[in-house]
Amino acid sequence: MAAIQKIRGTNDFFFGEARKLRYIQSIFRHVSEFYGFEEIITPVFEYTELFSRGIGEGTDIVSKEMYSFEDRGGRSITLRPEGTASVVRAFLENSLYAQRKLNKLFYMGSMYRAERPQKGRYREFNQCGVEILGSARPEADAELISLNMLVLQTLELKDLKLYINSVGCPKCKPDYEAALKEHLSSSFDELCESCKTRYDKNVLRILDCKNPQCKELIKGAPAISATLCEECSEHYEGLKAGLSSLDIEYIENPMLVRGLDYYTKTAFEIQDESLGAQNAVCGGGRYDNLVAQFDEKRSTPAVGSAFGVERLMLSVSDESVDPAPETVFVAAFEQTRDKLLWAMEKVRGAGFAALCDYELPSMKSQFKYADKLGASYVLILGPDELQEGYVMLRDMKSGGEKKVALDDIERLAEL
Ligand code: AMP
Repeated sequence: MAAIQKIRGTNDFFFGEARKLRYIQSIFRHVSEFYGFEEIITPVFEYTELFSRGIGEGTDIVSKEMYSFEDRGGRSITLRPEGTASVVRAFLENSLYAQRKLNKLFYMGSMYRAERPQKGRYREFNQCGVEILGSARPEADAELISLNMLVLQTLELKDLKLYINSVGCPKCKPDYEAALKEHLSSSFDELCESCKTRYDKNVLRILDCKNPQCKELIKGAPAISATLCEECSEHYEGLKAGLSSLDIEYIENPMLVRGLDYYTKTAFEIQDESLGAQNAVCGGGRYDNLVAQFDEKRSTPAVGSAFGVERLMLSVSDESVDPAPETVFVAAFEQTRDKLLWAMEKVRGAGFAALCDYELPSMKSQFKYADKLGASYVLILGPDELQEGYVMLRDMKSGGEKKVALDDIERLAEL
């Protein structure tokens, strides 16, 4: 029988890579808490309707990338492709608006999209996201961007570029859509098949098409800044002022749109220029109308973002990850096996990680294994030494050995 393999586009993380993934999440958690965000944990699957209504039927995610299936009761269920829709559902379902004037929430978790897998793009991937529900002020947008920048800088990413834009609101967006359609109308036949559909359903998405010919056609397209209404322009100016007050450099990209329908006003993306094709590490924007879309009575302005953990893992160096605790390998002989667990516990009490080979093979094999595991020290439980009340400690780097009295094992760190 052929061996069972993982599903295409998914990953197994172990050893150093698993540490790296968790390290990124821990930095994100730490920074988010300093910005006053609280964690929200929502289910990995939701009713399909939440995403089709929230993200938009015309988007790539909803039209072709969702993992949907019928549950035993015949209801359509979807593995979440992103986090915001679930946060909004939980916000409404649990009346979070009644508990906090401003809900500053962060989440971490796996997302699922049936995209074509390639380096940095997977079908199961992890996102770290933040959402601020309850403020329409541009300061909220700027603060959220600064949180993301701080996480990425703490992770020692160097080639970061922040791109910003405003995608307008339901008042001014239609004017821009009309202007864009006008610009593209004469070259409609040259658009790729997807963009032909986008032309009617969601013309802004053409700005985001990766097809070289479509890219060429949108060159010279009008910029959205020219059609923004006063409210959206003011908001955009406020965002830029906020970023400047924080000394955050940004690049205005009037062609920047995001893959989800719900964005209004601010759209932003942080790119890591050192990565290849998949260089967007973080994306987000404002979604002032999404909450009302689910519950008109609870209209709440909001802004959010998410970064992809796997994509960051490609840039974060092993050296920047917090090291694992230093390890002491406890080596013993069959005659001293009865002291093995006791010694390991003392070692842990001293603040080291303790490891051993339960089989107690030859001393040579135990040392070889200790070396392979990267142990800093080996504590040798010799029968004669134990009788005299001590053990030997070998420094694996220098090769030096010293006697340690049994009572002193707990103070190993000070020796
Ligand atoms: P989005 O939810 O599409 O705005 O994406 C936000 C971030 O999630 C992106 O900037 C990527 O870092 C990451 N991301 C999105 N899709 C994938 C994917 N298929 N595989 C890995 N990371 C992804």
